Amino acid sequence: MPELPEVETVRRGLEQISVGQVFTGAEILLSKTLAAPGDADYFLGAIKGLKIQAWQRRGKYLLGILSDRSHLGVHLRMTGKFLWTTRDTALQKHTRVRLFFEGDRELRFVDTRTFGRMWWVPAGTAVETVITGLTRLGVEPLSPDFTVAYLRDRCKNRQRPMKTFLLDQAIIAGLGNIYADESLFKARILPTRKASNLKSKEIKLLHEAIIEILETSIAQGGTTFSDFVSTTGTNGNYGGMALTYGRTGEPCRMCGAPIERIKLGGRSTHFCSNCQV
Ligand SMILES: [Zn+2]
Repeated sequence: MPELPEVETVRRGLEQISVGQVFTGAEILLSKTLAAPGDADYFLGAIKGLKIQAWQRRGKYLLGILSDRSHLGVHLRMTGKFLWTTRDTALQKHTRVRLFFEGDRELRFVDTRTFGRMWWVPAGTAVETVITGLTRLGVEPLSPDFTVAYLRDRCKNRQRPMKTFLLDQAIIAGLGNIYADESLFKARILPTRKASNLKSKEIKLLHEAIIEILETSIAQGGTTFSDFVSTTGTNGNYGGMALTYGRTGEPCRMCGAPIERIKLGGRSTHFCSNCQV
């Protein structure tokens, strides 16, 4: 599932490819992918002639800013990905939405599992009233709002295991399974530790680790885009560098002990019981 670094990589790709492009139309192949407006014909009429001005990211949401100040929101969920192509290119299986641009260019949304969603929010309407998931997002971990004090405050009185704590989008937006495991390893904290039991020094280390892991991963995903907007749902080139994620039984990069895996809150959790306390 794409997490913050993957979504950020897609955002950069979209920014490189589609800013300045003018919509000529669209085709919705799976109606539930377009979550709003409910009337697809209205959407098709409304976006015609609009230009894409920028792409923003909030948590795992992508937000296209269009020339009339309307917004095109996208959540890739499990398997959503974009393909930048030409209109006459044969359709991929699982193509859900086709966005057409001048010069017969096309941005195709391909989504095997069909959990991905798109929203168009007209100008003058507050984006979060339509894309309501945005109202539940916590702080952006790469913004100045994510401070040691913020993390310390959120850890206070929370009895949840750290892994579950980090996956909570209402606390930190965009962290998922991979980067929660990686950050905890880097900060040498066991995923089973209760948030309220962390020492001040550990909170500081974790804060640093989250930022460093995300920045490293974004740097690895920062490829140049030709015709493909990278989002495989995995983690770009970061995979080969992962500290614990997906490395069950393999030697810990710090101490050589085998990486262990348990289920926490229903999610696979990877750690080194020798390095993490
Ligand atoms: Zn180790």
